[in-house]
Amino acid sequence: MSVPGGAAALRSRLQRARAAMQAAGCDVMMLSLGADLPWVSGYEAMPLERLTMLVVGATEEQGAVLFVPELEAPRVVPQPGVFSVRPWAEHEGPVALVAELAARLVPASGGTPRVAVSDRAWSTFLLALQRLLPGWEWTVSSEVCAPLRAVKDEAEVDALARASAAADRVARALLGGEISLVGRPERDVSAEIAARLLEEGHQRVNFAIVGSGPNSASPHHEAGDRVIRAGEPVVCDFGGTLDGYCSDITRTVFTGEPEAELRRIYEVVAEAQRAGVEAARVGSPCQEVDRAARRVIDSAGFGRYFVHRTGHGIGLEEHEDPYMVEGNSAPLVPGNAFSVEPGIYVPGRYGVRIEDLVVATAAGPRPLNVADHSLVVLGP
Ligand code: ZN
Ligand code: ZN
Ligand code: ZN
Repeated sequence: MSVPGGAAALRSRLQRARAAMQAAGCDVMMLSLGADLPWVSGYEAMPLERLTMLVVGATEEQGAVLFVPELEAPRVVPQPGVFSVRPWAEHEGPVALVAELAARLVPASGGTPRVAVSDRAWSTFLLALQRLLPGWEWTVSSEVCAPLRAVKDEAEVDALARASAAADRVARALLGGEISLVGRPERDVSAEIAARLLEEGHQRVNFAIVGSGPNSASPHHEAGDRVIRAGEPVVCDFGGTLDGYCSDITRTVFTGEPEAELRRIYEVVAEAQRAGVEAARVGSPCQEVDRAARRVIDSAGFGRYFVHRTGHGIGLEEHEDPYMVEGNSAPLVPGNAFSVEPGIYVPGRYGVRIEDLVVATAAGPRPLNVADHSLVVLGP
């Protein structure tokens, strides 16, 4: 994986991660599956039965060692000054190798050793490590990395902007009627959106939700066999990964003039989405973004139909910190990147959602998606 910002970015991240380890009293960090590993190393572990694990000491002198299956070592882009690579052969026991190194990184005179391990590491390995390192205290690596990853540097914001621009081009094709809808099963439309995401530069498609008619009322509907008819709302929510960073956008289009209440719902959601973006000011609590969007929907009388939080952070992962949800009083800081995606879902009937990604900046909220929000009625 090519890392936006290159080796200098990785060194700076590892330095900040070590400071956070020390603040959290962690002697060792063990990174395997999940996004913390690529965030500090540029390397993404394969989700297979062989162990990949970066063992990080709390000081720069202690360094970091990437244990990787010998047959996967050619995938690793070496990052001198960031980590060294220790390929392990099929006859070796990688868990024991990791445990031995970890034990050496713990100061002899210290108290209970504390280790942060990837949130998404297999329990196969975690339980084996716990048997080899009895009495150690374990925590998740998100305790160390999540607050750091929530603040994107310039290169990361650029990468998110590139991914969003690619998703916008697909959204424009949808809004412009280039993707035909009526008479096609949702599944086909989903496949076309996925193909277009790749054509526009994504390396991976993460999801392409297409919910038509009553299915539009199911926020995480999986595109299926239902054939799209004339006179319906179609919620399309899609995203992929481009150079490691994720896109995520939702537009709702209509295959015929919507009835009055549905038209009204669309206008309310659009207004709520604008209010949410507008509230995304540096210094104001994350929950204020949720409240601002929800207020619009509540006062229009549709509050009980807005059944999810207003947004999620995004970066190397589709969903990560910070979350725009009631109860998250953490203030927004420059570099926070997240979605603003209110929706109204009337069960069994219809639903509308509009979603853009936004970055909090000192100059105010910067939307990364700029595809049109106006109500679009597409012909047959
Ligand atoms: Zn979602
Ligand atoms: Zn989405
Ligand atoms: Zn989203």
